[in-house]
Amino acid sequence: MANFQLGIDFARQLDQQDQLAQYKERFYLGENELYFDGNSLGACSKDAEKSVLDMLEVWKKDKILMWNVEDGKYFKFPQYLGGLFSQMLKADANELTITNSVTINIHQLLATFYRPTKQRYKILVDELNFPTDIHAVVSQVLLHGLDPTEAVVSVRSRDGRNIEEDDIIAAMDETVAVALFPAVMYRSAQLLDMARITRAAHEKNILIGWDLCHSIGSVPHDFKQIEPDFAVWCTYKHISAGPGSNAGLYINKRHFGTRPGLAGWHGNRKETQFLLDHEHTPAPDVDAWLTGTPNMLSMAPIEGVVKLYNEAGIDNIREKSLRLTDYLIWLIEQRLSRYGFNNGTLLEHSRRGGHVALEHEDAFRISLALKARQVIPDFREPNVIRLAPAPMYTSFEDVYRLVEILDDIMQKKSYDQFSEERSLVV
Ligand SMILES: *Cc1c(COP(=O)(O)O)cnc(C)c1O
Repeated sequence: MANFQLGIDFARQLDQQDQLAQYKERFYLGENELYFDGNSLGACSKDAEKSVLDMLEVWKKDKILMWNVEDGKYFKFPQYLGGLFSQMLKADANELTITNSVTINIHQLLATFYRPTKQRYKILVDELNFPTDIHAVVSQVLLHGLDPTEAVVSVRSRDGRNIEEDDIIAAMDETVAVALFPAVMYRSAQLLDMARITRAAHEKNILIGWDLCHSIGSVPHDFKQIEPDFAVWCTYKHISAGPGSNAGLYINKRHFGTRPGLAGWHGNRKETQFLLDHEHTPAPDVDAWLTGTPNMLSMAPIEGVVKLYNEAGIDNIREKSLRLTDYLIWLIEQRLSRYGFNNGTLLEHSRRGGHVALEHEDAFRISLALKARQVIPDFREPNVIRLAPAPMYTSFEDVYRLVEILDDIMQKKSYDQFSEERSLVV
């Protein structure tokens, strides 16, 4: 671990050297609040707000004519926004689009690419993925009249935190049709070796897709090198585009021309969409996978905030993210290990994303005690406090103050006054 020092002066020194420090003022943050939950719902920026207000103005003024202003920018909005992710994913703009939710996009991709045969009928997943991905996979298997207990293969974790790449690759055989994995595990922050796993899948003629929900906006990806078949991501976590902002979809161009599983009029060729023909003529690129009218107001904030991230640069964001999390892990180890905390996140940079999984048997009540002190973490059953210092708006001093407050809570055992009872959203 780098040469860190205890004390707030050192934190301030790190802030002075921080080239992204200027971006903090572009976000709405509470005066005395420390927000460490940007991996669940990123904070609102002035840039996201402005692009929503701009769209409202266009609606007010132009009404139906809004689809044609600025050379059809809003009519082509899904792919226009998708293209803003080119820097983060190293993919071509016409392979990227914004539409629907992550769950629906997984359905769309499986409806398109999961074509089970007698020999090849399995979908490979892992037991640590977020539940909605698995729900989508199981229901697609059921739609084909197959038995999920046979057709869905889940790679087991050896330690409950991480999945070994070797175990994933060992499970790839000629009965597997499609594989779907998260780039970063939502609980432990493990970052999988996507290039290696994708290569292994292709050697076995398996189509492979990646769920980037916990990596996008935090970890850069090189899709020119990884060459996955498809990918999905959400825009409300590290990207900070707001509650329910629409999801991303990537289709590798070698699959252009494949018929989309779920078709709709917005997936038709733009040039003939308004001829309103009942014959569906799919668009020649990722647009073919669009369905209904885009959720414009849920997409609007993406424009402002992703331009802001691109200005900061994803490589700089990643560099700061690693430094923030290194510092956080180091401070926790120095100051909090005596209270029974355990770092559940891998230390190697190449193997972790942008948050830290702090494990403690009283994690739930400690997370409540933090909230009572205006520190917002999140909690994941059964014993994980997730802490995500967001490079765009978290300073090193914020990290320092978080550890200071945690230390105080543990010293005074102030979490004792909270109940173990869970609320609707934890
Ligand atoms: C957050 C998250 C989702 C969310 O899916 P929605 O359809 O946008 O609600 C899906 N998968 C993973 C891995 C996630 O982390």
